Amino acid sequence: MNKRIWLSLAHMGGHEQKFIQEAFDTNWVVPLGPNVNGFEKDLRGYLNDDVHVVALSSGTAAIHLALVQLGVGPGDEVICQSFTFAASANPIKYLGASPVFIDSESDSWNMSPVHLREAIVDRIAKTGKKPKAIIPVHLYGMPAKMDEIMDIANEFEIAVLEDAAEALGSEYKGQRCGTFGEFACLSFNGNKMITTSGGGALVCSTEEEAKRTMFYATQARDDAPYYQHSHIGYNYRMSNICAGIGRGQMMVLDNHVARRRAIHQLYKKELEGIAGISVFDNPSSDFNSNHWLTCIVVDPAIAGFSCEDIRLKMDDTNIETRPLWKPMHMQPVFEGTPFYGDGTSEALFDKGLCLPSGSSLTNDDILRVVGVIKGM
Ligand SMILES: *Cc1c(COP(=O)(O)O)cnc(C)c1O
Repeated sequence: MNKRIWLSLAHMGGHEQKFIQEAFDTNWVVPLGPNVNGFEKDLRGYLNDDVHVVALSSGTAAIHLALVQLGVGPGDEVICQSFTFAASANPIKYLGASPVFIDSESDSWNMSPVHLREAIVDRIAKTGKKPKAIIPVHLYGMPAKMDEIMDIANEFEIAVLEDAAEALGSEYKGQRCGTFGEFACLSFNGNKMITTSGGGALVCSTEEEAKRTMFYATQARDDAPYYQHSHIGYNYRMSNICAGIGRGQMMVLDNHVARRRAIHQLYKKELEGIAGISVFDNPSSDFNSNHWLTCIVVDPAIAGFSCEDIRLKMDDTNIETRPLWKPMHMQPVFEGTPFYGDGTSEALFDKGLCLPSGSSLTNDDILRVVGVIKGM
């Protein structure tokens, strides 16, 4: 049996254990400490010195705490990209608010500025109030059209929370994803660009927001010698052990980004010219995806087979592939939720597939994947 090729696996750089050992040696085995501070400093240095980063237990927790600070509560609406992983939208529900889903446009596969504007105008007309926040996603590492989205958000004075969970290392017009909105979430889950075994971060625009994030992430304790609480808090801080893994991973982040981009290039070169298959790529030089996952779109009428046919054949030869995210407006749990769109994300879900793209994969692994498609 062939060795299993996975979609995207954790990929250690070799220095992670040194930071964990240090944490044990100094007994910093708690949800704070030198690794947490060091990891946050590394992330800030990587993104942009103007932002402030707070390491948390997950990307989902980061989205939750951003929405808490944006004042989202029962009766509010929050605009969210429909074509995404459920974690982008679930925290809206944690707070008793309602999502409003926006379709993708076909260049970046991310939030359509046209439908975003349409939705804001219509929600104000229907509910008499503005949505509380806008959550665009940089899906598969591809930057959303942030200029147009920020223009609309500024025009209506609605805060933007970027979901950059998959986009560490991606850039839009030379600016790193995660530095456009009032807030941005990052994820260090096992399958993302870098991992802390599980974790995330909230990127904040101001130091005050960062302090407030830490406050909420550590049970919202008032400044008193005893435990006094004036707000509902959460236990969302990253542990010093996980942050040690993160510090080691930051040393290889550039390599990971370069490797995922090289894998994308190899897929492009190998699959170019196969009728009915297109490899998703940067739509213009404004976009510089980290190519977290390389995705293909299959037109069965031309190719003679569907993306599901490919997925099943891959599985037979011990290769993991995955359909594109099923849009949130099609999910049973979000049935009846307002949606503004034109079928773009539904068509992508119908025709698209993610190929193995982990930075630890070899060129031979990629060629084995390509061979299955060529043999269809
Ligand atoms: C992974 C992911 C998240 C959530 O991150 P976790 O760290 O797993 O909580 C949010 N949004 C998107 C688009 C993701 O891919």
